[in-house]
Amino acid sequence: MTELICTVCPRGCHLKVYPEENYRVEGHQCARGEKYGQEEVKNPCRIITSTVCIEGAEHPRCPVKTNAPVPKQMIFNVVKTLNNVCLRSPVKAGDIVVENACGTGVDFITTRSM
Ligand code: SF4
Repeated sequence: MTELICTVCPRGCHLKVYPEENYRVEGHQCARGEKYGQEEVKNPCRIITSTVCIEGAEHPRCPVKTNAPVPKQMIFNVVKTLNNVCLRSPVKAGDIVVENACGTGVDFITTRSM
């Protein structure tokens, strides 16, 4: 059994997830929480935020994020794809910085125009 706190809404229900019982969830107060609990135990994923180098802009770093959640076990390798990236101004918010990072199907995009 795994205990976690649902982060889908501010109520923060305390969940218990039982993988041995087909991922049965206790403690949720809505269907979204049940789904969150099951996915968090089966395949936890996160949106990644970071910054990359940018030349010719007012600031030296440009904020980026993934355009979808990435499986937690892939985060280290996915972040490494940003190591050698250096953008050139101008960029628009939403521009793709790294496409299909590590074959995840997820792109890094800029979150700010600079
Ligand atoms: S289970 Fe439902 S009500 Fe409870 S924190 Fe999650 S989303 Fe909110």
